[in-house]
Amino acid sequence: MAAVRVADAPLRGLNTFGIDARARVLWRVDTPDALPSVLRALRDEAGGEPLVLGGGSNLLITGDLERPVLQVALPGRRIVADDGESVLAEAGAGEPWDGLVRWSLAQGAFGLENLALIPGTTGAAPIQNIGAYGVEQREAFDSLDALDLHTGAARRFDAADCAFGYRDSVFKGPDAGRWLVTAVRYRLSRRPRLRLDYGDIRDELARAGHGDPGPVEVADAVSAIRRRKLPDPAVLGNAGSFFKNPLVDPAQAQALAAREPGLPAWPAGAHMKLSAAWMIERCGWKGYREGDAGVHAAHALVLVNHGQASGAALLALARRIRDSVAARFGVELEPEPVVVGPARL
Ligand SMILES: Cc1cc2nc3c(=O)[nH]c(=O)nc-3n(C[C@H](O)[C@H](O)[C@H](O)COP(=O)(O)OP(=O)(O)OC[C@H]3O[C@@H](n4cnc5c(N)ncnc54)[C@H](O)[C@@H]3O)c2cc1C
Repeated sequence: MAAVRVADAPLRGLNTFGIDARARVLWRVDTPDALPSVLRALRDEAGGEPLVLGGGSNLLITGDLERPVLQVALPGRRIVADDGESVLAEAGAGEPWDGLVRWSLAQGAFGLENLALIPGTTGAAPIQNIGAYGVEQREAFDSLDALDLHTGAARRFDAADCAFGYRDSVFKGPDAGRWLVTAVRYRLSRRPRLRLDYGDIRDELARAGHGDPGPVEVADAVSAIRRRKLPDPAVLGNAGSFFKNPLVDPAQAQALAAREPGLPAWPAGAHMKLSAAWMIERCGWKGYREGDAGVHAAHALVLVNHGQASGAALLALARRIRDSVAARFGVELEPEPVVVGPARL
């Protein structure tokens, strides 16, 4: 197929919130060879810079999109190098992330197991430096290939170029939207180094009867916990955590803790990280619903679409949550998903 162009494309099935918006034009590309001609064609499309789309699991689309959408479906996984100790593995940007995790485990290459079952594509994983269960993708990241959407030029980024932070990277900075990631490489280990200290991993392993677990059992345990705790977007539209845990200076955290007993806070470098979920719950939002836009009943950080909520309605709810947390705690919440379309937070 290589590349297809669809005019007036429905986006509902292409974002996990299930928002029923349309794109004036959508290009889908599934071979690297087709990219140069697609990028040239995109320059002739009206509407400005394209929105690069992976699995749509970290997006809030607030209305119909005038700008073109470029859906990246570049496939492929391979081992680039293997010295018996470590493995360099590469995946095309369109490869489903969880597929990469499971494939790497099947190759006996370890390091991604705590990141099992995160939705979305491999090309998007470095964009917000995905993380879960005590691990971030940057810990195994080697490098990525990208194309400059302005010029078509290719560039390789190493970890330092990417400037990874907590749910952050250079790709979310002032140049956001400029780079199209085509492939990502991870440095994995032949020797398992299990990370079991986060959340309920040990309990889950014990429950499943794994006294001496390996990386596959860890991935299974993480997947089981995630299935239990997070709503399945196929059943209830959502984009995972909607807000980042805010970073504040230690003095502010101390003052807040004195005023708000029980507020969870963890050291994070020179800052303290506060629990956004706890603050949102304290403001009374957990389980809230207005029309089809709501907050998950079991998880105050997860905004949900009960069926027909528009992106604008979810955005309005996000604004009210952010404002109430700012009023009570004096802390500004930042959204984790990328907000695209006519309205912004
Ligand atoms: C139920 C659920 C649970 C989740 N849990 C977690 C979690 O535990 N940890 C976590 O970190 N995230 C989590 N997420 C968020 C999401 O899965 C990740 O952010 C994921 O990496 C997004 O991938 P995607 O392909 O769907 O990206 P999209 O939503 O399609 O895009 C997200 C951003 O990346 C850009 N982008 C996508 N592909 C490319 C590319 N090839 N090149 C350049 N830019 C690109 C887009 O332009 C956009 O800015 C969760 C989401 C859901 C729905």
